[in-house]
Amino acid sequence: MKLILAIIMTISLSTTSCQRGFTEAEKATIGTGNNMMPVMSIDNEKDSLLIRKKSKPLTKKDVLSEEFATLCRRMLKTVRNPENEGVGIAAPQVGILRRLVAVQRFDKEGEPFEFYVNPEIVEYGEPKEYGNEGCLSVPNHRGEVLRSRCITLRYRDLQFKRQTEIIEDFTAVIFQHEIDHLDGILYIDRISDTPNGEVAEETTKQ
Ligand SMILES: [Zn+2]
Repeated sequence: MKLILAIIMTISLSTTSCQRGFTEAEKATIGTGNNMMPVMSIDNEKDSLLIRKKSKPLTKKDVLSEEFATLCRRMLKTVRNPENEGVGIAAPQVGILRRLVAVQRFDKEGEPFEFYVNPEIVEYGEPKEYGNEGCLSVPNHRGEVLRSRCITLRYRDLQFKRQTEIIEDFTAVIFQHEIDHLDGILYIDRISDTPNGEVAEETTKQ
C-alpha cells in the first residue's frame, strides 16, 4: 500500500512539474504588449553569463499560454528591428532560458519567420561548408563557421504536435546557429577550425 501510494505521488508530482507554466521571473521578463525586448550581449557581464546557460524545454501548457504568445510577438519584433536586423533569434537572447527559436525561412515563399518549440537536430548531413555568420548577441563581430547544409530537424509546432523536417542550404545554417544558443553555444566557439580566420564582410545576424 505504501509502495502504491509512493508511486501515485511520484506520478502526480511529475505530471505537475511537466505542466508547470512560466515562472514569475519569466513572466516579468516576457512582460506584455508588442514591443522589442532587450537583446542579451556578450559585452555585458550579466548577459554574458546568462547566455551561456542551457535552456529548459517548454511544456504544452507553456506553449498554449498567453505569455508564450506574447514572447513570440516580442521576439519577432526584436529580430526584425531595422537598426539591428537578424535572420533568427533564440529565447535565451532575450533573457528567457527556454528551448524556443525563430528562424527566417528563406526556403519558403515570402521568407516568413517561424517559431520552433524544443527543436533538436537529429542528423547533421553532408555537405558541410564554411559560411559567414554574425549574431545579435555578439556585436561588431563576424566569422566563418563550418556547418551542415542539410539537417533533419525534430520539434514541436505551435499546437505542441511533434514534427520532423529535412531542411537545406542557408536556412539549415540558421537552425544550427539558433539551436546552439539553447545549449549556451555561440558561433564564435566554432571559429577555431576556420581556414582563413575572420572575414570583415557584412553578413546577416542570427
Ligand atoms: Zn546568435
